[in-house]
Amino acid sequence: MRILISNDDGYLAPGLAALVQACRGLGHIDVIAPEQNASGTSNALTLSRPLSIFEARGDHVKGFRVINGTPSDCVHVALTGLLEQRPDLVLSGINNGANMGDDTLYSGTVAAAMEGYLFGIPAIAFSQGTKGWAEIDAAAAAARSIVDQVLASGALAQGPWLLNVNIPNRPDAVALPRRITRLGRRHASEPVILQTNPRGEAIYWIGPSGDAREAGEGTDFHAVANGAVSITPLQVDLTDHAGSSAWASRLGVR
Ligand code: MN
Repeated sequence: MRILISNDDGYLAPGLAALVQACRGLGHIDVIAPEQNASGTSNALTLSRPLSIFEARGDHVKGFRVINGTPSDCVHVALTGLLEQRPDLVLSGINNGANMGDDTLYSGTVAAAMEGYLFGIPAIAFSQGTKGWAEIDAAAAAARSIVDQVLASGALAQGPWLLNVNIPNRPDAVALPRRITRLGRRHASEPVILQTNPRGEAIYWIGPSGDAREAGEGTDFHAVANGAVSITPLQVDLTDHAGSSAWASRLGVR
């Protein structure tokens, strides 16, 4: 059993060390993670410059390989030349904060897992419901328990697939009920924040994401808000299948 683990918060993030620690004993683990926090980079690949790699030192990151690129870069490089053997499973996280609903389109955490999935490898993205790393070890225990359950189910042989998991920040995370959910929807993001830099020029900060808009029963938002671990199976096809015939008649094409 070989597992590749990455994240988007960077190789020093507590969520990565906790996930790696929790997965000890499952098999051979390779950790390849971004040098900097790359949250919100989605599926970006770095095409305009070469990528460098170094091996991390220190208590919680010993042996982690670090790439000065994005989460997708890490998994892509791992699978296209860096790793001698193809992993059986790709894990990402545990992210500092939720990746639910529309977040999944922007998330580097989901993207790292998705890169594995796009290469035909089963993959799971893990996030905590709230930022700040509260109860991260409990979240890691829950993540390990889910990995164990997935492996015991025989799902690896039926891959590839992609799961997006969000875990409430609770000390009893491992014992919480688990729900298979669909993505909810968020309201549009909060307005951009305008400031003035020391040269008197306008600068803009992207505003926070919007609150949940579609958060009814069955959604990831609903599960986490009600003290359950949310597990959303994702797919990548963005085709609007229901809209295709309307477009064919609008444009007079088939
Ligand atoms: Mn992040």
